Amino acid sequence: MHFDVLVIGAGLSGLSAASLLAKRGLNVATIDKAYCPGGSCGAFKRGDAIFDQGSSMLFGWGEKGFNAHRFLFNCLEESITMIQHELLYCVHYDGRKVRFFPDIPRFIDEVSTLFPGQRESLVRFYGDMQTMYQHVIVENPSYTTPDEVDKKAALKSLLHHPLSYIRFLSYLNISAKTLLSKYFTDKAIFNFFDKLTSTYCYVTVEESPAILASVMFVDNHVGGSYYPAGSTLSLTGALEKVIEQNGSTMMAEREVVSILFNQGKPGGVLLDDGTVHTADQIIYSGTVWNLYGKLLPHNETTEQQRSWAQKQEPTYPSVVLYTLVDKDVVDELTLAVEMLVGRPDALDEQEVTAYIPSVDDRTICADDEHIILAIGPSFGSWDALDQKAYQQRKKQEIERLLAVLEKRFPSIREHLRHAELASPRTIQRFTLKNGGAVAGPKQKLGNHMFKRQHIRTDWDTLFCCGESTI
Ligand SMILES: Cc1cc2nc3c(=O)[nH]c(=O)nc-3n(C[C@H](O)[C@H](O)[C@H](O)COP(=O)(O)OP(=O)(O)OC[C@H]3O[C@@H](n4cnc5c(N)ncnc54)[C@H](O)[C@@H]3O)c2cc1C
Repeated sequence: MHFDVLVIGAGLSGLSAASLLAKRGLNVATIDKAYCPGGSCGAFKRGDAIFDQGSSMLFGWGEKGFNAHRFLFNCLEESITMIQHELLYCVHYDGRKVRFFPDIPRFIDEVSTLFPGQRESLVRFYGDMQTMYQHVIVENPSYTTPDEVDKKAALKSLLHHPLSYIRFLSYLNISAKTLLSKYFTDKAIFNFFDKLTSTYCYVTVEESPAILASVMFVDNHVGGSYYPAGSTLSLTGALEKVIEQNGSTMMAEREVVSILFNQGKPGGVLLDDGTVHTADQIIYSGTVWNLYGKLLPHNETTEQQRSWAQKQEPTYPSVVLYTLVDKDVVDELTLAVEMLVGRPDALDEQEVTAYIPSVDDRTICADDEHIILAIGPSFGSWDALDQKAYQQRKKQEIERLLAVLEKRFPSIREHLRHAELASPRTIQRFTLKNGGAVAGPKQKLGNHMFKRQHIRTDWDTLFCCGESTI
């Protein structure tokens, strides 16, 4: 069949692109390998309990600041109920619990109990970052990627608050560590900030570009984090509804195995069942490694393009433990997101982010239950294992993660109703993320922003979106 636009991938990015185009009246087909849309933001059911596959803490919904998702739903004229987490989350760090209050002075009080000598530096640092965030992000919201920003509009914004913009742009090529060094003398506090950058961007402060970290540190408090009422399925389902109600098509359980060229330009796709579809434009939302390594024919790409893609360093592979537990396992002070830090001075497999979405949304499991997800890095290889060894390794991994959770939820083992694990292989199988890398290529200094895949490609009929891009 012929479409105006073919979208490869029905994760959040592909669904966003497809729904906006369908709303504009274009005839769009969105193709995904999985049986239901969502990608890393999908969900699955066991009995009556709903588990989010991956994403459970969503950003970009605030009234002010970075709020791209809110903007999207306004464009689509769709309503959605998002539950705002009262507190962004808490970090169990070095025997203490640090809560991320929306109110920055209160948060500084909390962090100062860990680093008493750094209180004044914290006040100065957050004061400066807040001013910059207000001038650059809140007063001049931009809903496009940096490579697509209109130069005239950018200049106008710059002239409005020149000092803040110059400061912001000076952070483009320095690390978060260099930025923090201007404020903090106690090296131990860098380890704390390391945990924040690794949760959000999967990088250390040394790797993290200051331009991204400076926004994220403040957005944590101003923008907040959210959960779609009824699970992440409500979010992806709302986008799917817009696509279908506007006459466009969702194609599930079909993998695009090749992008076909017509007169030197991408003009169609070949699916795994041998079907061919053509389109005027194609949008690809999968990984950059698969795009240049598998989907684009070798004779249409250059060695330079392929080796550039190959060199993009992946974020670490993850494991996810999905558990359903008796309600009493979770105490009243538990937040919907809690980060359990193993070692303050290093990232190891003891470091787990626990999502307990049923704290805020009581509709996703029975009254006497809670859902606890544990997500953490997995450093050992899962590739060479045969089926038996793989199942064995999964069992061991469940035990290992339960032991980590047990430190926070001591009665979890006795009150466990269901436990299952997604390994990096599972993540790859369901989302086509190479090696189970959680979030595409690392947003690492030297590999960030303009150095990533741009929205436009070298062909004017092929566009990209999603976590591999700028
Ligand atoms: C376990 C986990 C937990 C996470 N937690 C959070 C969180 O709490 N908060 C947060 O902000 N982010 C989180 N993330 C990251 C976030 O989920 C992703 O960055 C985001 O959802 C990516 O959306 P995307 O559309 O770019 O890609 P994806 O979600 O990866 O979607 C890409 C889709 O394209 C499909 N696809 C790719 N290639 C093809 C092809 N050739 N043919 C057919 N289909 C194809 C895949 O099947 C997939 O469905 C998490 C990620 C993981 C894995």
